[in-house]
Order: sequence, then C-alpha cells, then structure tokens
Amino acid sequence: MYEGKAKILYEGSDPGTLIQYFKDDTTAFDAGKTAVLSGKGAVNNRISGFVMARLSAIGVQNHFIKRLNQREQLIRKVEIIPIEVVCRNIAAGSLSQRLNLPEGEWLPHPLVEFFLKDDKLHDPMVATEHITTFEWASSQEIDQIKVLTLRINDELGKVFEAVGITLVDFKVEFGRVWDGETSRIILADEISPDSCRLWDSATNKKLDKDRFRRNLGDVIESYTEVAQRLGV
Ligand code: UDP
Repeated sequence: MYEGKAKILYEGSDPGTLIQYFKDDTTAFDAGKTAVLSGKGAVNNRISGFVMARLSAIGVQNHFIKRLNQREQLIRKVEIIPIEVVCRNIAAGSLSQRLNLPEGEWLPHPLVEFFLKDDKLHDPMVATEHITTFEWASSQEIDQIKVLTLRINDELGKVFEAVGITLVDFKVEFGRVWDGETSRIILADEISPDSCRLWDSATNKKLDKDRFRRNLGDVIESYTEVAQRLGV
C-alpha cells in the first residue's frame, strides 16, 4: 500500500485493517542522513505496541490492534491527517534552536506544536489557522487533537517516569476513521524512541534518536534499554 522512511504498510486480512511493518532503516534531517540499524524495527514494534495498548487502556483510541510477529503489527486503516503534532515538556531540538532556549529547561507547562508533514518543505511549523484555512483538519478536530495529545503526554510521562526515564518531547500523528457520514479522530503511526526524546532520569543520558542524529553511538543499545526497562 505505502512505503515510508521507517515503515511499510500492507493490506490487512480483514477490510479496514493494515499490516504495519517496522523497518531497520533510520533517517534524520528529512532523510538527509540514513542508516540501517539492525534490530531497530523489532524493538520499535514492541515499544510502540506496548505504549499504544497502555493508551487504549485509558481510553485513548488508536490504530493498534495487535502485534503479529517481530516486525509487524495489525492496525486499523485510517485517513492520516498530514500534521505532525509535537508535545514538549522540556526544551530541546528545534524549539531550543528556534527560541534560543537552553536544552534541558523545563517548560512552564506542556506545549503542543503543529508541523506540516512534507519532507520537501522540511516539515514547516504551522499555526492552527493554516490547518483550518487549507482544510487539513477542522477546528473541532484540532481541539480534539490537542486534548488527546495532552492526555497522551500525561500517560506516557507516567509510564516512562515509572522506569526512570524522563519524557522530554514526542511526535504523534492522528487519522480519521469513518462511520457512514461521520468521522472521528484516533491516534495512529508509532510511539517509539524514533519519535520521542527520552532521557535517563538520573543521568540525563539520551536513550532516543538523538543518539543517531548527533552521532553519540549505542543507538540500538539505547532503544533496547528502553524496551527492557518497560519490560517488553
Ligand atoms: N520528531 C519526529 N519526526 C519528525 C520531527 C520530529 O518524530 O519528523 C520528534 C523528535 O524525535 C522529537 C520531537 O518530535 O522527539 C520534537 O522534534 P523537534 O521539533 O525538536 O525536531 P528535531 O530536533 O527532531 O529536528
């Protein structure tokens, strides 16, 4: 059906389902830097499946149905909203650069930002007014997305804190599922060390994709440590 940078989507066995295959391919800087990290796909499949199941348990509906094998999970087919939703607790990455904030500074409260999913344009930051003007999503959908993102942040923050990891920030994507004429928003894509900043709470050691972006080494070892601490 579709091949992205880190995943492939195949038609599922039942209508309305897809198989999400996690590749070892790793990219950063809008695919300007690439590598194959052996075992990454399997680790992210496990972590994302675990996190999505935890979110389902608190009522955050999402596309995850079940893990099928090492690299594949069965998911619900959704109409992806072309917006990357970033939620931040601590300044890092592009926020630190844009506003000259020291990396590691706690924000007064969680901050939700929107970026257009478009590698050719380098995923530009957009305002909610852009999202409604260009009809990427309605204002009601944006409101739902903000509420869901903050709930995800609360739950993920607790899940990681319980295993000695600080959730610095993360990116999520949402999709629509249709029921006749009406649609609703559910969480889609993945939640893994590829899409989160995760720091060891005691040492601030980075356990996420920044190890790859910044050539810090031990990328797969760090992802595996996250999986082991979560017990998956
Ligand atoms: N992120 C992502 N995909 C992207 C851009 C960002 O998963 O295309 C994640 C990133 O891993 C981090 C958060 O979103 O956890 C915020 O990223 P930021 O805007 O700081 O950008 P970056 O430093 O990754 O360029």
